[in-house]
Amino acid sequence: MVAATTVDLTTLPKAFIDKIDYYEDLFWVTPETLKKVVTHFVDELNKGNSVKGGNIPMIPSWVMEYPDGSETGEYLAIDLGGTNLRVVKVKLLGDHKFSTEQNKYHIPAELRTTRNKDELFDFIAKCLDDFIQDQNPSGVPEGTVYPLGFTFSYPCLQSSIDAGVLKTWTKGFDIPGVEGHNVVPMLMEKVNARKVPVKVVALINDTSGTLVASRYTDATTEMGVIFGTGVNGAYFDRVQNIPKLQGKLYSDIKPTDPMLINCEYGSFDNEHLVLPRTKFDERIDAESPRPGEQAFEKMTAGYYLGELLRMILCELYEEGLVFKDYKPDSEQIKLLHKPYHLDTSFLAMIEGDDDLIDLPEASALFSSQLFIDATLEERKLARMLCQFIGTRAARLSICGISAVCKKMNHSKCHIAADGSVFAMYPHFPERAAQGLADVFDFPALKEGEKEYPIHIVQAQDGSGVGAAIIAALSDARKAKGLS
Ligand code: BGC
Ligand code: MG
Repeated sequence: MVAATTVDLTTLPKAFIDKIDYYEDLFWVTPETLKKVVTHFVDELNKGNSVKGGNIPMIPSWVMEYPDGSETGEYLAIDLGGTNLRVVKVKLLGDHKFSTEQNKYHIPAELRTTRNKDELFDFIAKCLDDFIQDQNPSGVPEGTVYPLGFTFSYPCLQSSIDAGVLKTWTKGFDIPGVEGHNVVPMLMEKVNARKVPVKVVALINDTSGTLVASRYTDATTEMGVIFGTGVNGAYFDRVQNIPKLQGKLYSDIKPTDPMLINCEYGSFDNEHLVLPRTKFDERIDAESPRPGEQAFEKMTAGYYLGELLRMILCELYEEGLVFKDYKPDSEQIKLLHKPYHLDTSFLAMIEGDDDLIDLPEASALFSSQLFIDATLEERKLARMLCQFIGTRAARLSICGISAVCKKMNHSKCHIAADGSVFAMYPHFPERAAQGLADVFDFPALKEGEKEYPIHIVQAQDGSGVGAAIIAALSDARKAKGLS
């Protein structure tokens, strides 16, 4: 069960209690709804693998071996996420061990929507250059070319392991001239201009990296998933179960060979058939740079949770229930009306406030983020809203995992999870576990039992290591003369 962490509501005015009941109903996802969503999700995964295709891209990633922990070698990896760029040097030591050295570079906010794509790729090239110079204070030995795994956490259609055509930007990125193009040459152009001695050997989604890195150390891992700024999952299927690959494969590939699939299931239910959308979800979608896309992601991912809370707070203000001392044209209320002004960490910190009597953390947040002096009643109400939003996100987000496990008949396994929401949002792992238990009707854990049969674990340091292992697998495949 999810621990009781709720504030005492008995002192709240009736109007507040009514609102709390209203939003609780609006955001609660019943076990029946979860099951219905999962049933449709399984169909959609299969459709994505079919010749005709569907909403969920189900992208074959050309990783065609399971890592077994014996892989070795030294690789560079970059991970372009929503917020940071990481550059990592990975040494795969074999025997399920590795070591890493890394640097994190903050992605300037304006780069997410720059009109000039060269700025993005040059930024990456520059970070790589800095890192390599740091690592080699007396210069890089003549002739060295570092093999590079490029983790690019956006949906890319792949015709081989070292190429990927961006299908659509997600998570608020919106840079013209990249969609519809292979991102690898765009990076290589900037890398070459700066004479950085690297060559991209693998283009990788963060979920694929997470899966492979975790499987290197835990062979029971069947999926890599991200609960972060965006939402997605990857798993291994078999070539024979992917009809859309038929006729497109080299003759040395066997039907039983594994194929890593980057589902890109953030786009699940773009037709809006089963997800319990509220008017707030509809608005988030309508006002986003890509309306009609990433329906599932927009209800579950960190990029959108702050926006949900902000919209509800605006509604409560307009109804005259909260922040009554602030005039509509005050700085405070203007900030409240600023899209995406609150991010997920705002909710995470409010839920993390464990002084349930005074909620001092919430008070500090309202004053630092909105310059609003929130009353205790308002803080309690906000805290309840965070709880509803966070719980809905956790329960819905396990539908992707459930669907893959059902499709593949995995009844006992580990799911490796990474991402800021999983790692930082209080109670997210317990709420997600409860969601899985509701979908699969797992009996309650007995004394001494630590985990349900399908169990989400914190991933091994995901994408850097995963990218290196994938690069190593691909090198080994080439060395064997396989396509
Ligand atoms: C992207 C995926 C990525 C996920 C998690 C989504 O928005 O489309 O490629 O795996 O975010 O980072
Ligand atoms: Mg990431």
